Amino acid sequence: MESKNLENILESYFDRLWPLTRSLTGNANRETLSILSEIIPLNVHEVPSGTICYDWEIPSEWNPKEAWIKDENGNILVDFKKNNLHLLGYSTSYNGKLSFEELESHLYSLPEKPELIPYVTSYYSKRWGFCISHHQLKELKEHKGPFNVNIDAEHNIDGSLTYGDLLLEGTSSEEILFSTYICHPSMANDQISGMLVAAFLYQELSKIKDRHYSYRFIFVPETIGAIAYLKENGSILKERTRAGYIITCLGDKGKFSYKNTKQKDSLTNKVTLQVLKDNNIEFQEFPFVPLGSDERQYASPGFNLPVGSLMRTMYWHFEEYHTSADNKSFISFKHLRESIELYMKVIKTFEGNKKFINKFPYGEVQLGKRGLYPTLGRGNDKTQMVDAYIWILNYSDGKNDLLQIAELSNIPMNILIEASNILEKEGLINKIENF
Ligand code: ZN
Repeated sequence: MESKNLENILESYFDRLWPLTRSLTGNANRETLSILSEIIPLNVHEVPSGTICYDWEIPSEWNPKEAWIKDENGNILVDFKKNNLHLLGYSTSYNGKLSFEELESHLYSLPEKPELIPYVTSYYSKRWGFCISHHQLKELKEHKGPFNVNIDAEHNIDGSLTYGDLLLEGTSSEEILFSTYICHPSMANDQISGMLVAAFLYQELSKIKDRHYSYRFIFVPETIGAIAYLKENGSILKERTRAGYIITCLGDKGKFSYKNTKQKDSLTNKVTLQVLKDNNIEFQEFPFVPLGSDERQYASPGFNLPVGSLMRTMYWHFEEYHTSADNKSFISFKHLRESIELYMKVIKTFEGNKKFINKFPYGEVQLGKRGLYPTLGRGNDKTQMVDAYIWILNYSDGKNDLLQIAELSNIPMNILIEASNILEKEGLINKIENF
């Protein structure tokens, strides 16, 4: 019942976020953050156009209003109001009458996927253009023209880039980072799924009391937004970040994927791989490569943050990627909900992973007299919980955390966490603070 509810809520937010023409900058990004703020109370920041961020400069603000191609009789042939992928991202304005030959160099299509509209942008060199299906390109070619072309897209040099963030504080200042991007127009898996998982993860996480870690949520346009964020917050992130994730591609019906962090033995990798193993989840594992999403900004040498990415089918690996086929029917809200649940398991593992000291280190503690051991000594009556007690007590010498014990014992983390809570209550082990 409750899970069906969440799926319906996810769908209603999806429908509101879908039509907005997000980009690096612009009012659609502000509106996106304002809708998401109903779920996660984001702090919204504006970075003025022209601001220098390391080797980059915040571009002019882009707000497209209209973009269409009409025939001589005024019939609309291409209209960005029907699908915002039709307009080249960051296109300049244009108005004129053109033959097909003159128009052709401003048209982008995918001959190998002739039904689909491609997602194309031209952020840093000024041009105008339309993205259309290859079928539609052929139709325009047959039509020959002339065509009336109109693009009304304001580039404001006095504008700004908008991003949102939120720090959910725990008892420790050590942070776990969740970053997602807000710069793609109408695409489902490679855009809206990430924003929704990040926002609802906050909602679930805020219900947990006594959080150890602090959790930082970042909603930025890809690349330039992450770089602007690092420019403003990088030194804090460098000091406090223990683990991090890029949240993207989480709504499709495929298997899970995990892209490792740049640092091989990071806590991010250990926790994620342990959760996937403990839950018998089939997944595809990818090494870190400095391509893809914003993990490459966070892991640039100046910051070197351990940011991985737990996804369903990874970008590049699905046919629908960066096309009009990455739409509502490509994803499912059940899969989106399950992605949130898996990330919550990851979070619970971070929270439960601790180091302990055995207060009775000389010989084995007698579990039976404390009601922690089956009273009938039949040998194979031991539960996994009893095994967990024995492993934890034996390895709690201040050096091993529960993750290490999980690896050695093959006991799932949720059992070890529960067992350690009981042992702590029984006064048999002490948690090491600030490990
Ligand atoms: Zn993308």
